[in-house]
Amino acid sequence: MTRSIIPDLKTREVWFLTGSQDLYGEETLRQVAEQSQEVARGLEAADAIPVSVVWKPVLKDSDSIRRAALDANADDAVIGVIVWMHTFSPAKMWIAGLDALRKPLLHLHTQANVALPWADIDFDFMNLNQAAHGDREFGYIAARLNAPRKVVVGHVSNPAVVAQVADWTRAAAGVAASRSLKLARFGDNMRYVAVTEGDKTEAELRFGVQVNTWGVNELADAVHASSEQDVDALVAEYEELYDVVPELRKGGDRHESLRYGAKIELGLRSFLEEGGFSAFTTSFEDLGSLRQLPGLAVQRLMADGYGFGAEGDWKTAVLVRIAAVMGAGLPGGASLMEDYTYHLEPGEEKILGAHMLEVSPSLTTARPSLEIHPLGIGGKEDPVRLVFDADAGPAVVVAMSDMRDRFRLVANVVENVPLDEPMPKLPVGRAVWKPAPDFATSAAAWITAGAAHHTVMTTQVGVEVFRDFSEMTRTELLVIDESTTLAGFQREVRWNAAYWRLAQGI
Ligand code: MN
Repeated sequence: MTRSIIPDLKTREVWFLTGSQDLYGEETLRQVAEQSQEVARGLEAADAIPVSVVWKPVLKDSDSIRRAALDANADDAVIGVIVWMHTFSPAKMWIAGLDALRKPLLHLHTQANVALPWADIDFDFMNLNQAAHGDREFGYIAARLNAPRKVVVGHVSNPAVVAQVADWTRAAAGVAASRSLKLARFGDNMRYVAVTEGDKTEAELRFGVQVNTWGVNELADAVHASSEQDVDALVAEYEELYDVVPELRKGGDRHESLRYGAKIELGLRSFLEEGGFSAFTTSFEDLGSLRQLPGLAVQRLMADGYGFGAEGDWKTAVLVRIAAVMGAGLPGGASLMEDYTYHLEPGEEKILGAHMLEVSPSLTTARPSLEIHPLGIGGKEDPVRLVFDADAGPAVVVAMSDMRDRFRLVANVVENVPLDEPMPKLPVGRAVWKPAPDFATSAAAWITAGAAHHTVMTTQVGVEVFRDFSEMTRTELLVIDESTTLAGFQREVRWNAAYWRLAQGI
């Protein structure tokens, strides 16, 4: 039975708007309409693009352009708008529309033909195919209005073009998810911790997320209200999906602990479903009458697309939710992760990431084992948890810090690697990775930027999707990747401080 709240992105629409004007006559405008439909169809048919691309009639004047922007704003299914100036569309026509547009914008700089028809080209062809300057005219007004946007260049038959559009649609889906995100916090942040704090009011304005707190005993009431039949069914599901250790199985000494773990899942799920929440946080310092720190339940909920942050970390919970939506339909997953400890052998440096319990099994294709072990923190009963290693392969870790006058995202491109040796005494979900460009540069840059120890790790989307997300939400993003040098990164941090202060005005 699927309880996933990861949306089917085909239900989300991106509108394809074509700019022109009345100057060219009916025949040319008919060809503009035909060819732009073909371009839109090319995007719609591309497997890599997860959303529906919907062609709209060619726009020829200010009123219809403004109306298209307002209609896109008003329709919750529309997560973004692609524009292309097939012919010359005098860009004053776009001022009111661009000023009104509140959805992410992609400017596709393309043309209908791949090859220049050298032998046959005449001025009729030139008249019809003049995006080379029509799009530059549009670019001027978009730049002058400082409209957040992505510019993608090339023919739609080029997979590199499709890939860039696909990344943008995934980022737009993330934005749409954050604009409708309600997050439930059970308890406050871990006492004295700095980086998990943040301005929840600003976050609602910037990302649209609603972050509010509920007493943990309201959750505990829901947990303790779950029925024995529902617990039976869920425990049976656990035995089907995981290697459940004998002591937790039916008839095992500690079966009752697994049943309690199932109750936590049932209670949490019902609380989140009833409240329309798609992300949540817990705090091991504030568990009320809950008997275990939620481990297994949190792991499974993350795999179903819920955002989660531990120790009250709502900012990371938001990132986990957004990343799960961005990665919809792709292999891999998104999870809370925490930089924990290092392997410092020169040239072979690695980061071991884990958490007390709460790492999503979406990071593995192997069958996790379901175990129970003591937790030396929190003073509660031993919690049940899934134990596994994240699959080897490319990943990105992203953190969010509140820098007082803005949120800062920091992303590091990393490579998950196999464990050098098994870690039988570390019974949690864990990942081991090598960060780009190298361990020392990555860690020094990360710390220079004040990036958090909690991150979302995604193995589904690359850093480009977060670049697009940061543009759409006008949020600072610092990227640590193959091209990063520490000196360059330090300069960028300094320049950014000035830019982001100036960019907000007074
Ligand atoms: Mn933590």
